[in-house]
Amino acid sequence: MELSHLVNSIEEPQTIMMAKLSRAMKAEGIPVVDLSLGEPDFATPEHIKAAAKVALDAGFTKYPPVAGYPELRQAICQKLERDNKLQYEPNQIIVSTGAKQSLSNVFQAIINPGDEVIIPTPFWVTYATQVIMCGGKPVFITCDAQQNYKLKPEQLKDHLTTKTKAIVYSSPCNPSGAVYSQSELAALKDVLVEYPAVFVVSDEIYEFINFTDKHYSMAHFPELKDRTIIINGMSKGYAMTGWRLGYMAAHSSIATACEKIQSQTTSGANTIAERAAIEALTGDQTTVGEMKTAYQERRDYFIPALQKISGFQVNIPEGAFYAFVNIGAYIGKTLEGELIQNSTDFAMYLLKHAKVTGIPGIAFGDDASIRFSFATSMENLEQAIQNLSEKLGTKN
Ligand code: PLP
Repeated sequence: MELSHLVNSIEEPQTIMMAKLSRAMKAEGIPVVDLSLGEPDFATPEHIKAAAKVALDAGFTKYPPVAGYPELRQAICQKLERDNKLQYEPNQIIVSTGAKQSLSNVFQAIINPGDEVIIPTPFWVTYATQVIMCGGKPVFITCDAQQNYKLKPEQLKDHLTTKTKAIVYSSPCNPSGAVYSQSELAALKDVLVEYPAVFVVSDEIYEFINFTDKHYSMAHFPELKDRTIIINGMSKGYAMTGWRLGYMAAHSSIATACEKIQSQTTSGANTIAERAAIEALTGDQTTVGEMKTAYQERRDYFIPALQKISGFQVNIPEGAFYAFVNIGAYIGKTLEGELIQNSTDFAMYLLKHAKVTGIPGIAFGDDASIRFSFATSMENLEQAIQNLSEKLGTKN
């Protein structure tokens, strides 16, 4: 059977592959601590679920408008004003089946074959693949632990060319947890103003899981507002991963282009999820803060504990719910007869011997790291630390 070149050119995300392996081991009765998943362990707040039930009974079961219900697009504008002090009109908002689809729409709307897209590394696994699927060329820029995994203006300048179409990054960042400050973004903005044809795709899906409590977007700079595309959604901050609801906010011409693309793919997002999202965005926000506090408590336990494990180097994440651990000390070593040549070998070693699942850093463009999610119970985190300490030892 001959499949397309496209499908042969991409791979299943390693995040999903590791979760599958972990589930298979658990099904065999092996007590694995799964720190691979990139989703909140909390249930969707009750008032949001209640809104979905009301919507179902009220008959919101027909096709929605492709771009999303007007009330939801309005609610998103209100949210952007309330939380971000950004002014958008409903015709600048497109609601999609998750932020992942919003990103896919955007890349399809702006990339021509051969266009370059700058991706600071480590990056969220899907960016590079989606760019490739559109015929674009990812241009990776290594941002190491010393620079807290954040892009420096000089690096950006060095990689911008006449072929650069966009830059895409997340802040707070998956996988590093880094959060760009206002001044750091301003320094990048100063470079970008010299390149008026470059779009900024600003993935803000972890906005509400930010331990600095200061969230800035490139869209705050008037010079860049029209070419910044904000990507956000309900998955992380509102614990709504399964509802599959995300959105983009941008200049109306980009929004209209995304609507056109979406009209030929999904025809719009799920109606019940859209109605629930209106409640999530406009209703009581208390649970958002409570979940953030819980992640922060876990971070405050987990990161110092990881820092004590032999060979682990970990920066303190300022947002999201991941520990991005440099395991360079193990590369080239043999552990229990197994040669560790890269992050995949190390992740497999940990899964097999320490019964802890992490995601190999190669999935994020860094083959000397591993990502652990701390979106899980304190009990699981303690168990993971115990298992890791027993297998790898602790620093003196
Ligand atoms: N952007 C980043 C950085 C993510 O980590 C994720 C999910 O893991 C997404 C986007 C996708 O979010 P959604 O569930 O809304 O598709």
